[in-house]
Amino acid sequence: MTRRRWIADDFSSDRAAITGSHADHLIRVLRARVGQEFEIATGTVVRQGRVVTIDIDEKRVEFELGEEVPASQGINLTLVLAILKFDRMEWAIEKCTELGVSRIIPVVARRTEKHLAAASVKRVERWRRIAMQAAEQSRRASPPEIGESIQLSEVSFLIGALRIVLAETEQKTLLRDVLCAYSEGEIVLAIGPEGGWAEEELGFFQKAGWTSASLGPRILRAETAAIAASAITISELAE
Ligand code: SAH
Repeated sequence: MTRRRWIADDFSSDRAAITGSHADHLIRVLRARVGQEFEIATGTVVRQGRVVTIDIDEKRVEFELGEEVPASQGINLTLVLAILKFDRMEWAIEKCTELGVSRIIPVVARRTEKHLAAASVKRVERWRRIAMQAAEQSRRASPPEIGESIQLSEVSFLIGALRIVLAETEQKTLLRDVLCAYSEGEIVLAIGPEGGWAEEELGFFQKAGWTSASLGPRILRAETAAIAASAITISELAE
């Protein structure tokens, strides 16, 4: 059984700490003790860590760092995810983090419900917390970056990557087939909202040079599509 992993909130060359509610969880729920050993992720490196101090009032647990633990670097996969209903969005973020996506950019699509778009500004912190917990649980070295929510037209900064828009209306090209052409660099997958991408949005993607791809004949719910597309991409590209 691999040791539980924590992503350090701050660290130096031989010490690391987790703080705040993160530390509270370790102290109160998991009842950490001085001397206990964990894996501690510090930036891109994961190391053995032994608890040296526990400060309940300050909510701080300090670790002495030891040997490096081998950790995979993962792939460079960005998800452009139309904002979904609260629980479905959180589910998609959690599962795609476990699978290994490196970045999630929430977008307001034409058919994203207005109140969800408005609430998204306040949800980002919660999404980041969910991603952090999922990253620790799946033994990642770092959580995916979760961007502030943007309008679909603002995704043009993603130029340079292999950009794939998942569309249930795509009849010919399967995601798998598009991935065959991939050699290296960033991959971006765009998943539409519950009501699907609007016609003009598909036109926008096409004009901007995105490749449209299908996940097969079933129409999946958006969060299922996000998870399936991430899993297919990661299994296709993992060394
Ligand atoms: N409007 C549709 C459902 C949209 S599904 C309907 O009810 O008929 C939501 C999103 O999931 C889509 O925008 C697309 O990005 C993705 N998706 C779902 N099924 C898919 C499939 N078979 N192939 C590719 N993408 C799919």
